[in-house]
Amino acid sequence: MSDSDCLFCKIANGEIPTDFLYEDDLVVAFRDINPLTPTHVLVVPKKHYDNICDNVPAETLAAIAHAVDVVTKAEGIDKTGYRCVTNTGDDGGQSVHHLHVHVLGGRKLRGDMGEGM
Ligand code: 5GP
Ligand code: ZN
Repeated sequence: MSDSDCLFCKIANGEIPTDFLYEDDLVVAFRDINPLTPTHVLVVPKKHYDNICDNVPAETLAAIAHAVDVVTKAEGIDKTGYRCVTNTGDDGGQSVHHLHVHVLGGRKLRGDMGEGM
C-alpha cells in the first residue's frame, strides 16, 4: 500500500484531523476509534512502516517506547499496568498496515493474548 492511501499516514501527517495525546518529531499517539479498554491509545510513527519488522530505525523504536511512557503516565495507568500490542499480518489481526502499538489499560486484562483482550 502506498503512503497516500494509508489511513495512519493521513492521521499522522494531519490530513485527517485528530487529537494527539502525544507528538514528537517521529511519532504521534491518539485514541483508538473503537476502544477495547478504558485506555486504548495507538502509538504510530509518522513515517510509514508496514509493521514492526519493516526496517524500523532504532530511534523510532525508542520514540515509540518514550511515547508509551508519557501516555501511560498521563492516563494514570503506569503503576496499575497495561499491555502493548502490535498486531502483525493477517493471522496477527492487523487491519491497518502501518506500524502501530496498541496501549491497553484501565482495567484488569485477561491473561490470554487473543480476541477481546
Ligand atoms: P489493528 O487491527 O491493525 O491492529 O489496529 C487498527 C486499529 O485502528 C483498530 O483498533 C481500529 O479501531 C483503529 N482505527 C481504525 N480506523 C481508525 C480511525 O480512523 N481513527 C482512529 N483513531 N482509530 C482507528
Ligand atoms: Zn502509512
